[in-house]
Amino acid sequence: MLPTVMSADMTASDIYNMLRDQAQLNTLMETINSGLAGAPEQISIIIGTNRVYHVRLGSSSFGLTLSGGRVTAISRGEPANPTHIIYASITTVLNIANAADPVSEAINAVLQGQIVITTAPQCSADSACDDDEVCSGGQCVDAYTIAVVPMGYAANEYQEFYDKAKPEMDLTVAHIPMNTDKLRIHYVNPSVCPNNQCTDVCRDCQNTAAECARRAGLQGVADKVVGVSKGDVAVYINGQPMLLCGCAGGIPAYTSVSRSRLYVEQGVYCYMTVVHELGHQLGLYHVDAVGDEGGACQGPNAADCQDSNKASDIMGYAWPQDHFGPAATSYLRTSVLSGYQ
Ligand SMILES: [Zn+2]
Repeated sequence: MLPTVMSADMTASDIYNMLRDQAQLNTLMETINSGLAGAPEQISIIIGTNRVYHVRLGSSSFGLTLSGGRVTAISRGEPANPTHIIYASITTVLNIANAADPVSEAINAVLQGQIVITTAPQCSADSACDDDEVCSGGQCVDAYTIAVVPMGYAANEYQEFYDKAKPEMDLTVAHIPMNTDKLRIHYVNPSVCPNNQCTDVCRDCQNTAAECARRAGLQGVADKVVGVSKGDVAVYINGQPMLLCGCAGGIPAYTSVSRSRLYVEQGVYCYMTVVHELGHQLGLYHVDAVGDEGGACQGPNAADCQDSNKASDIMGYAWPQDHFGPAATSYLRTSVLSGYQ
């Protein structure tokens, strides 16, 4: 139980003025500090992870250090090395003025980061936000982040890579069951990892893809890495040439490597491969007993093997594929992408 620094008869404007007053805010922060020291398990914060926020509230200023989604420190004044600056307002605090216990509610609003929900617009485009955020409603918010990396492209072939990879990611965006406004896609320039070669699409190519994302500064930023091959760089298995459209590093997996469906050779047309491999990356198995990746009819989408529409399931091998099955969709929405709905 946190000690009370506001009296129960304070009005909303009293709380407002308190939060705008440096001395009173300091008192509040000290109180929160002592509360944190005694009962950190009471604090649950979801405004970011592993970050140091410098929160400016009117003329007041304080620091929030977060790790693993929890506040680990609240400091008076500007923190030493802030990663984010938040210009806060207290509309949310005012909104709880009619609560039964406005004092506790106000403290909780601070502790839960709710006072930063109504910040002034900070962005107008994703490029104004961190690499793992998107600009949504004028604010930078956490995104599901995918690094799309070139496999086998020369340093000066960004446009060729983009023209192959963009339609694949457009297909992916169209089918993935999430709020795609919260999806951030980075197309890595081939100059970061020019002519990256590998021999086995299911093995060393996965490492090559991850290494390219790392060189692009996206390690720890990207939730998934999707490699898109220029051509035959990714069509060898155990050193033997294979007509394979793609492979995920596992189920689930950080990486996958696919040929573009626009790369047509010997009658192979790799339609929907990128989104299929991303399905594996997210934890889905096949709904047909074919393919090399982890078998079929098991895991969270096992029930889709009995789906009447499974012939067009993205995790199957028939054509055309146009949807994730109902079990897969439910699993992705509730277990994997629930934070991005
Ligand atoms: Zn597969």
